[in-house]
Amino acid sequence: MNLTRREFSKLIACAASTPPSLGSEAISALASANSSARLESFNYSGVRLLDGRLKRQFDACREIFYNIPNDSILFGFRQRAGLPSPGTGLDGWYGKDYFNAFGQYLAGMARMAKATGDTPLRDKAVLLMHEWGRTIEPDGFSFYTRKPNVTHYPYEKTMGGLNDIYEYAGEKEALVYADRITDWAIKNLDRARQNPPDGGGTEWYTLSENLYRGYLNSGDPKYLKFAQVWHYDKYWNDYAAGHPNVIGLHAYSHVNTLSSAAMAYRVSGDPKYLRTIVSAYDYLQQTQCYATGGYGPAENLLPDDGSLGASLEDSFDTFETPCGSWAGFKLSRYLIGFTGEARYGDWVERLTYNCIGAALPVTAAGDTFYYSDYRICGGAKVYYEKTWPCCSGTYPQAVADYHNLIYFKDRDGLYVNLFVPSEVTWHRGDQDVVVRQQTTYPENGLVQLAIAPQKPVEMPLHFRVPGFAANGVSVKINGAPQPVNTQPGTWATINRQWKPGDTMELQIPLELTFAPIDKQHPKRVAVIRGPSVLVRQGQAPLPDFAKWASEKDSPATFEVSSSAMSRFVPFYRVAKNQPYQMYFDLEA
Ligand SMILES: [Zn+2]
Repeated sequence: MNLTRREFSKLIACAASTPPSLGSEAISALASANSSARLESFNYSGVRLLDGRLKRQFDACREIFYNIPNDSILFGFRQRAGLPSPGTGLDGWYGKDYFNAFGQYLAGMARMAKATGDTPLRDKAVLLMHEWGRTIEPDGFSFYTRKPNVTHYPYEKTMGGLNDIYEYAGEKEALVYADRITDWAIKNLDRARQNPPDGGGTEWYTLSENLYRGYLNSGDPKYLKFAQVWHYDKYWNDYAAGHPNVIGLHAYSHVNTLSSAAMAYRVSGDPKYLRTIVSAYDYLQQTQCYATGGYGPAENLLPDDGSLGASLEDSFDTFETPCGSWAGFKLSRYLIGFTGEARYGDWVERLTYNCIGAALPVTAAGDTFYYSDYRICGGAKVYYEKTWPCCSGTYPQAVADYHNLIYFKDRDGLYVNLFVPSEVTWHRGDQDVVVRQQTTYPENGLVQLAIAPQKPVEMPLHFRVPGFAANGVSVKINGAPQPVNTQPGTWATINRQWKPGDTMELQIPLELTFAPIDKQHPKRVAVIRGPSVLVRQGQAPLPDFAKWASEKDSPATFEVSSSAMSRFVPFYRVAKNQPYQMYFDLEA
């Protein structure tokens, strides 16, 4: 099994240059040495996006959610509670109380507002919470209608929203509501806990994460006890024991449940849970991921037998993009925090550029980008047929999360995980250290960092060497080349006295290459350039990259014939309804 995996990892871009994962002894040692974080995110404080694609996406998302009428969001709750319900409700999944996303809208708004100091958005989220709180019934029943299609799922999403309002909007009463709806849940949620695919659909196995957060926020042991009820023993233990069994399981929620295992580890320190998530990460990268970082065609995890490659022939619904990106972001962030390893940032990067960052925006009418289409016959970006689905809830959460993924820190040093135009202000010791990052990455490999402590400071500055950068990254400090160890998939470290006005310049090589889909289809490939997947528009011939790679007026666009409509472009730049082709069969 191990040998096969190692061979396989050479093939597939998802696992490119992945250093060997921690052995179980190393995990036990790590757990006993320190069950809390090795690295911390900035938790939505002190990180600002500067002008660029991601900031524009974030700003547009903020405008859409800020302008959804409160009466529309609250409509069904008020009707169910017999309160006046002016306005009209949102339609689609939300209005039908089908996997209702109310809690996720609160969560997304609270996180967005915290990240940018956006008081009007913060106030909106808090007002929505209190107005919803008025509709909670005496026994704690709190759903959008009397007849939600499932109860575990919206209860968990609402707990997530309340945790976020408590943590990021600073509104303590969130815990009062959490207490009331949890009393209802403890009495009423079905505890049969059937293992999917039988009895799937309620996603009961995702509850623990937000219950553990409720425990840490409130200190109330009832959350701890209730979190333990929803441990997904079979699935988690199979990973921990090294024999995962994922066939036919719902993709997004079976990545999302790994965040529950992560919180079980954070709270208990039991290394078994760390083994689960490390093993799951590797397994997903090696057997389930496309070159984009997406996974789960038709929302299913697949056997490791060539099904992934075959899926490109028939599934238009290749990747549930906002939900799947959000789950991948969380799992990767927990792993970076617990292990301190850089390699988990590689998935974050691919999800950022090719998945959530390549999604069409949620519109004011609730049109939502749900599935990315990777089919070998070609696809187009289109909106989902129903409005306000699950992915309209995870979209703002994932977009807000950019702020939480670019930089990490430990006691001494700063870690640059993503190369994004941004600025971080880190209160370190007795001063603020500001680091400002300018780049057009991944279109260009040049990343410029300006380091501005208030006074000279001796500290390590680390950056992630992407797994694809087989020949390393070149580094200049104040214009002078530096010998720095830049092994792919690790943090490179520059430890020196930094003075106001110092600069660091990175040159990350962005090579064009093929990423085969799986070991059974070595000739079925996507074209990648650094972290981004390029797709074909028109009938451009396949490379010979040497003849082909001519960048002209548009960065990272490769014209490969005289026709202007025949070219390769980053998937994230493809607009709505524009046809493209992502995967190709090379000739034998
Ligand atoms: Zn979704």
